Amino acid sequence: MLTVKKFTFNPFSENTYIISGESKDSVIIDPGCFYDHEKKELDTYISNNNLQLKCVLHTHSHLDHMFGTSYISKKYNINVWIHSEDKITYDSFQKVCDLYSIPISNRSNPNPKYFSLNDTFQYGDINFKILFVPGHSPGHVAFYNKENNFVINGDCLFENSIGRTDLPGGDHGSLIKSIKEKLFQLPENTLVYCGHGNETTIEKEKSENPFLR
Ligand SMILES: [Zn+2]
Ligand SMILES: [Zn+2]
Repeated sequence: MLTVKKFTFNPFSENTYIISGESKDSVIIDPGCFYDHEKKELDTYISNNNLQLKCVLHTHSHLDHMFGTSYISKKYNINVWIHSEDKITYDSFQKVCDLYSIPISNRSNPNPKYFSLNDTFQYGDINFKILFVPGHSPGHVAFYNKENNFVINGDCLFENSIGRTDLPGGDHGSLIKSIKEKLFQLPENTLVYCGHGNETTIEKEKSENPFLR
């Protein structure tokens, strides 16, 4: 069994996830910790549960999902993984923070490593199928775990909503295609963890989501 721990961080109410296996190996997805107390909350959870943090994974590289990337990767000395199509977004982090006048203390993010298309990602007893779901950002991915029946889907599909596509690199047609051709092909009872807001299921969004009729 994998454990999924959700944190909601920063002024954008972004959801950060730590996934851990029985071996205590764990990964962090979209570390959005911004304030010192949020960083402390993560560190305390990791140490209280004796977790071995192995890597930072990004569904995508918008700033609200990246405020803690530099801090976490340096503190735990671990690599950051993104899809190569999101490198432009990843590299624009400081510029976009400056644009919004958001003060950031850790200004440099490490060089990331890249997922391959339809890759499987494995660390100890944690494994994900990487689903390429562009649209909200050009290199957006979702992490699907079949055994435990969940997908961490970032800002692609939300409860009763979908990701915005008005940011640089966004594309509405691609987003709809990603949801229908990738996410909606998963089993109906798959639990969907979102980058903002509540969890949902594939079944619920297929029948109720007003943007996907
Ligand atoms: Zn986003
Ligand atoms: Zn977001």
